[in-house]
Parts: sequence; C-alpha cells; structure tokens
Amino acid sequence: MNRTASNLFVDLDVEVHPDHPIGQDTWFSVGGRADVLLKPRTVDALGTLTRRCHENEIPLRILGSGANLLVMDEGVDGVVVQLDQPAFREVSYNAEGAVEVMRAMAGADLSKTMHESVRRGLSGLQQMAGIPASVGGAIHMNAGGAFGSVGDNVHAVACLDERGETVVYPASELTFEYRTTNLPERPILWAAFGMEPDDPQKLRERVKAIFEYKKSTQPMADASAGCTFKNPIDPESGLRVSAGKLIDQAGLKGHRIGSAEVSTLHGNFLHVLPGGSANDLMRLIDHVREAVASDCSIELSTEIAIWGRG
Ligand SMILES: Cc1cc2nc3c(=O)[nH]c(=O)nc-3n(C[C@H](O)[C@H](O)[C@H](O)COP(=O)(O)OP(=O)(O)OC[C@H]3O[C@@H](n4cnc5c(N)ncnc54)[C@H](O)[C@@H]3O)c2cc1C
Repeated sequence: MNRTASNLFVDLDVEVHPDHPIGQDTWFSVGGRADVLLKPRTVDALGTLTRRCHENEIPLRILGSGANLLVMDEGVDGVVVQLDQPAFREVSYNAEGAVEVMRAMAGADLSKTMHESVRRGLSGLQQMAGIPASVGGAIHMNAGGAFGSVGDNVHAVACLDERGETVVYPASELTFEYRTTNLPERPILWAAFGMEPDDPQKLRERVKAIFEYKKSTQPMADASAGCTFKNPIDPESGLRVSAGKLIDQAGLKGHRIGSAEVSTLHGNFLHVLPGGSANDLMRLIDHVREAVASDCSIELSTEIAIWGRG
C-alpha cells in the first residue's frame, strides 16, 4: 500500500504500523511483512477504517492470534487489522432469563476466556481446551474437534458490514459446520455464548482431561498451525476421514522439504524449523497433496488461511 493510502487512517484512533513483520507474529513464525498493520483502539475507529477500506477498494484482513495462518514470504498487501487493544478484549457476563450469556469481544483470548468461565462455574466453552485462538478467529473457523466446536453454544455473533455498521446475527440465523460458518467474510466484532451453571471442579477436570488428550496425540509445542488440511470426505463412503491418517498411510510422517517437516506424532501437523521459510512449507503442502492423491485418490484442501499479495 502506498503512502497516500496509509494516510487514509492517520486521523483515526488507530495505531499505524507500516511495513510490520506479521509473519513472525503467527504460530508458524515464518513469512513476510504487512504493508500496514492497524490496531484500532475503539469500535468506532474499526468501523470507519472498515468503511474506508471498502470505499477505496483496499483489501482488509483481520489477524487473530495467528494460530491458523501462513503468511507468504513476499508479505501481505492491503490492510491487516489486529484487535488486540483493550476495547477488543473485553468479556462480560449477563443473565438473560434462565440463561447466563457471556459476551466476548473478538480480540479476547479464547483460552483465558474459557478458563475464566470455568472458574465462575459456567459450562459452554470447555470443549475448546488446548485450541489457541482469539474469539474472532475461533468463530471464523468454527474451531473445534472431537470434543465439540466453538459454535455449539453460540447465542449471537456481531460483524461489521462494509459501511462499518454493526450487524448482529442471532443463533437462529447462523450455521456452524465443520471448520466453517455461514457468516459473511467481514470483521467479527464479538460473540455471545449461552452458558450453563455447573460444578467448577467438574469443569476443571474436563478441561484437564481434554488438554492431556491433545498433548498426547498432537505436537503442541511445534511451530505449526494445528491441522494443515481439512479432513476430506471419502467419495466412496461419503464420510469424513482423517487427513492425518491418509498422510500417515502415504508414508509421509517425518517427511521434510527444506525447513518444513511433517510431524512424526501427527501426520496433519506440518511445522517449520527455526529460521525456516513459508516457501518451504508451501512446497511441503503441495507435495503432501500430490502424494496423498496418488496414494488413495483423495484430494486434500488446506484448513489454514494463506495470505500473500494479489
Ligand atoms: C498447537 C495448535 C493446535 C490446534 N488445534 C486445533 C484444534 O484442535 N481444532 C481447531 O479447529 N483448530 C486448531 N488449531 C488451529 C487454530 O487454533 C484455530 O483455527 C483458531 O480458530 C485460530 O484462531 P486465530 O485467532 O489464531 O485466527 P488466525 O490464525 O489469526 O486467523 C485465522 C482466520 O480467521 C480470520 N479471523 C481472525 N479473527 C477474525 C475476526 N475478528 N473477524 C473475521 N475474521 C477473523 C483471519 O482473517 C483468518 O482468515 C490449532 C493450532 C495450533 C497452533
């Protein structure tokens, strides 16, 4: 983005970081720079910058906690927005009739939010134990797994439209499916969850059990984005099958291209070694896709978001 475009935001209550190395902020810890990273301090400023991006045809991307994101080495054009200022991390609790509703702003850390709800004896998010995310990023991906998904107890979600106005979608208008939703591709502002009172000790034990299970089956400490590929639908059975199993069957566990490697613990976790590159990871992704297609005629598609130029 040129200097004139960058000037579009200087009058707003926004931190402006030109040429920011966002690749290093992702869990893969590789990839290039954003032409400009904006950190709005208020919802009004986010609304105005959303509208200005739309009016000036500037691509706008929202960076959550970077746990499901690969930034290419050449960097990212347009505007990247990060919702990490206090106004976007707030979490509030309100009883609505018999239901306790927890409303979390999109930039709130999902894990901290889940632990606080457990401490208060509220059930509804413990299935998300061990999944690194911002609330907005989790909703966007409908993050989850064997124990449930973030969408399971959603009460409502608010997004901004292209004019920067808040649009609230009640649960009755929302569909949460495997790693996707019917929300428009717009900034998510907050999500509200319907929570059930429960015994905090019981909830803590559940969280611990899920976390221990994840730790024993997934390489949680590697520089990865969790599962790289979606579990595909087997055309023969019509059922979703584990991408990790297909990668394992194709003999790819531990396969390495340059600095990128398939985990030896879980075939669907691809990681990058320190000082590596996004380019190596893309080459490994392509290789895994081709090898699985030739092994069992099933096409894998990526679960991770991939950002580049153009
Ligand atoms: C060790 C590890 C384990 C993992 N385990 C799981 C798992 O079990 N299940 C699972 O589903 N995922 C898992 N993941 C992936 C990741 O945790 C989830 O996909 C999570 O939802 C990503 O959230 P984020 O805030 O980091 O989003 P980012 O990675 O920052 O962004 C991902 C996408 O969401 C969009 N987005 C982010 N915030 C917003 C917003 N406010 N408005 C609109 N769009 C937004 C981004 O633009 C991007 O397209 C794992 C990752 C790691 C590193």
